[in-house]
Amino acid sequence: MALCHGRSLIQDLSMPWSQYQFGHTLRVLREIVACLCVLFLCLGGRPFLHAADEPLVRVTYQSPGQPTSPDTPPLHEEKAVEGRIRVQAVDGGLLVEDRQGGLWPITAGQSPVTETIAPQYTPLSAEELNAALKAELGEGFEVFPTTHYLVCTNAGRGYGEWCGRLFERLHAGFQRFWKRRIPNLEVPAQPLVAIAFATQKEFQAFQLADAGGQVGAAQGYFSARTNRMVLFNQSGEAGPGRALTAAQIQKQALRNPMAIATVIHEAVHQLSFNMGLQTRYADNPAWFSEGLAMYFETPDLEAQSGWRTIGKLNTSRLGQYRKLASVRPLEIRSLIATDDRFRDPASAVDAYAEAWALHYYLLETQKEKYDNYLKNLGKKQPLQWNTPDQRVADFEAAFGATSDVELALTKYMARRSP
Ligand SMILES: [Zn+2]
Repeated sequence: MALCHGRSLIQDLSMPWSQYQFGHTLRVLREIVACLCVLFLCLGGRPFLHAADEPLVRVTYQSPGQPTSPDTPPLHEEKAVEGRIRVQAVDGGLLVEDRQGGLWPITAGQSPVTETIAPQYTPLSAEELNAALKAELGEGFEVFPTTHYLVCTNAGRGYGEWCGRLFERLHAGFQRFWKRRIPNLEVPAQPLVAIAFATQKEFQAFQLADAGGQVGAAQGYFSARTNRMVLFNQSGEAGPGRALTAAQIQKQALRNPMAIATVIHEAVHQLSFNMGLQTRYADNPAWFSEGLAMYFETPDLEAQSGWRTIGKLNTSRLGQYRKLASVRPLEIRSLIATDDRFRDPASAVDAYAEAWALHYYLLETQKEKYDNYLKNLGKKQPLQWNTPDQRVADFEAAFGATSDVELALTKYMARRSP
């Protein structure tokens, strides 16, 4: 558990919902996902580690109910969550992690009351989580377990198995990639969860309830709140009535590389937050989070799976970057200082292009500096938000003046060819 000093949780909690739903709001971008993981070998075959020695607690709190009429304020109803306390703010607010890995920010104004109900917090086991997901998602959904994932889908066995194979391929590649560079990668405490819908319509209805109006026209998203990635079958034809095999799904996906890139992109976000590269609800700059996912997402149509080579030059992103670079100089400082350019649809396309290029350049050419920056990022605590100046200072301490980085990046990218 971390103690959160300084600003109150009430103020702090105004940020996570928009900042950490990595949905992709622009159809034109059709954002993509990806990723990876580790430590299985180091643990002698145990893919999951349990949490440290912390008690299991039940926190009861007041939650606003539904208003009975427009003229009367909503009555509060008592709710409860069981889990472990991740952050306790000085004003009494809490950040609770439940046994499925979901995070529950509870403000001091919600009058939380904590009682210990067992001496040791444990996350749900794979079997318990599997049963909980079936109960939550209901009729029509099946859960397909793999070594490191639970894939919940109503798009049929073929789609579930196809997703599972891609996730595991990414997991292995991600683990190999980072094992050489970042010591002590964390082991996820339980299987990582993906919910994959048969249709975009079902996905959007779920998204609205799960993530509110924040995600918009996403093709997929990772929720830092629930720790799940949520997707839909972009190849479009599988479903309960038209079940396709994994091989048929694969064939379709190779004709639509964005379908592969989306799965990889969101899975990278999830892996990054579950292997200790980043911390959920901490100050994770969007240029870094999105740049990392874009670095891994590149489809490889020469590979049977459609995804193989980590760090392969992303020709689609390079094209967006070149278009941007032809009309104006780079603006690294504003990209780093806040996430505003990613949130505004008018500037998001350029922000993604610039973030991809910056991340690619730093990861490929400034490895030691990049790894040090990443290690510091992984130490950031939940609900401790940095100012724009602090973000720029962290970046410049690692990589030097943003103006120098802009110059070097521009030269480097001019030499890249698809
Ligand atoms: Zn993303």
